[in-house]
Amino acid sequence: MVAEQDYDVVVVGGGGAGLAAATSAAERGRSVLLLESEGELGGSTQLSAGMFTAAGTSVQKALGIEDSVERFFQHYMDLNQWLLKPGLVRRFCELTAPTLEWLLDLGVEVPARVSHDAHTPGLTRAGVEDVWRAHVPKDQGYGLVQVLDRARRARGVEAVLHTRVERLLLDDERVAGVVADGVELRAGAVVVASGGLAQDAALVERWFPDALRAGESLFVVAAPGSRGDHLAFGRQVDAAVAGEGWGLLLPTAQFVRSHHWQAGFPPVSRVHVNDHGRRFMDEDASYAVSGGLIDAQGGPAWMVFDEAARRALPEGYADWTPGRVEELVGEGAVLRADDLASLAARMDVPADRLVATVERWNDQLPHGSDPDFQRDQTLAAKGATQPPAPIASPPFHATRVLPAELVCTHAGLEIDASAAVLDERGRPIPGLFAAGEAGGGVLGNRYVGGGNAVANALTMGRLAGQNAASAS
Ligand SMILES: Cc1cc2nc3c(=O)[nH]c(=O)nc-3n(C[C@H](O)[C@H](O)[C@H](O)COP(=O)(O)OP(=O)(O)OC[C@H]3O[C@@H](n4cnc5c(N)ncnc54)[C@H](O)[C@@H]3O)c2cc1C
Repeated sequence: MVAEQDYDVVVVGGGGAGLAAATSAAERGRSVLLLESEGELGGSTQLSAGMFTAAGTSVQKALGIEDSVERFFQHYMDLNQWLLKPGLVRRFCELTAPTLEWLLDLGVEVPARVSHDAHTPGLTRAGVEDVWRAHVPKDQGYGLVQVLDRARRARGVEAVLHTRVERLLLDDERVAGVVADGVELRAGAVVVASGGLAQDAALVERWFPDALRAGESLFVVAAPGSRGDHLAFGRQVDAAVAGEGWGLLLPTAQFVRSHHWQAGFPPVSRVHVNDHGRRFMDEDASYAVSGGLIDAQGGPAWMVFDEAARRALPEGYADWTPGRVEELVGEGAVLRADDLASLAARMDVPADRLVATVERWNDQLPHGSDPDFQRDQTLAAKGATQPPAPIASPPFHATRVLPAELVCTHAGLEIDASAAVLDERGRPIPGLFAAGEAGGGVLGNRYVGGGNAVANALTMGRLAGQNAASAS
């Protein structure tokens, strides 16, 4: 329960962006209140791998990797087809490394060593960038939240849980606080860091309708508090929205309903084909491009694997285990046939092409090279020491693969390069800042791997906190 009191800065939402904002505002000597709707801090940030993309960091330097803001900026804008505002993105790119150094100073651990996945602390490659930029912290997103939570406590920031902010408090045209639990809390400035909208089906339909293409396979892994409250706050002050139509959907098998940490991983020895029976992608391509590649086929996409691959799946996961796949065959979610031509008939793809695709794959990748899609390089970056086995032992299996795991949404209150929220006329709204998924303009139509969503939350959150402190 909150008590009526005045603060310099009120922060709405205690995930990554909110914790960074609250901590940085308090570092400037301001009184700060952090309000969190759920029973614990952390939001989606806490659930994440914590992967943080940044250019020119001490971690990269220690590994002898040369990088620059300019190079990062160019990659970020090109990947997003220059649909984002360059001024805002440049500011973000400039601030990622200083923010990462700030986190390291606070106690986040990112050891200067090469990591081959999103779980092992270190520097990894998780996107399509030419330079490794994905910083994986110890204890992942949970580790980031723990460190920031300690930092905000040490700086005297009060955090109140179970308190969902209902609306902004206005003084003429200025944002002057918030209302929560029916209590008016006045503040010199407000930072909206309430995350995305993935958990509200109606808002997903309005702001990220592409997600609905997954049909019944769609599932949401974002935190429960991702209810899109920022949009209601924005309507109160005529705020503009940026990022409409965008979000991150990870490709997954049609039967999976939980994040791959729980669901498990499909066999390495698999080929993805479109409804012409042709291979169309590196099966391990980054999230930065894999969803788009599948969408671009314009029809169903399939993964095909054999019996040896099914039997070799590790135990201990919800979906990708030998026994569960066997069950899924019985349920019809995985198709099975004794030979590839019969499997093709069940998939309704041309048999001669599927057979030719698998023969070509068998002639190449199991021998260590993939001239068409260069998956050998992706597997090497993931630390693979052996090429995948051929797809050759019957029976053969096929299941649909599609972008269906909704991770985050990008429609946020449009911000400028100081994290101030802009109104529909493009003017900063006095007293109002936003960051993370609630702040629109940094997250575009492509995920910039590895880790632009966490980097956005913490970098723009920290900036919002600093500027809210100055404005209060
Ligand atoms: C499983 C998973 C893995 C991911 N892995 C990565 C990764 O490795 N790298 C990467 O870049 N991105 C990753 N992401 C995405 C990334 O984690 C998020 O985009 C980012 O952390 C969002 O931060 P945020 O602060 O904006 O929102 P959140 O961390 O979700 O915080 C928002 C908080 O606001 C609270 N809140 C909401 N409404 C209100 C209200 N009205 N009043 C008070 N509080 C409110 C919520 O409960 C929540 O705690 C992942 C996401 C998931 C779900």
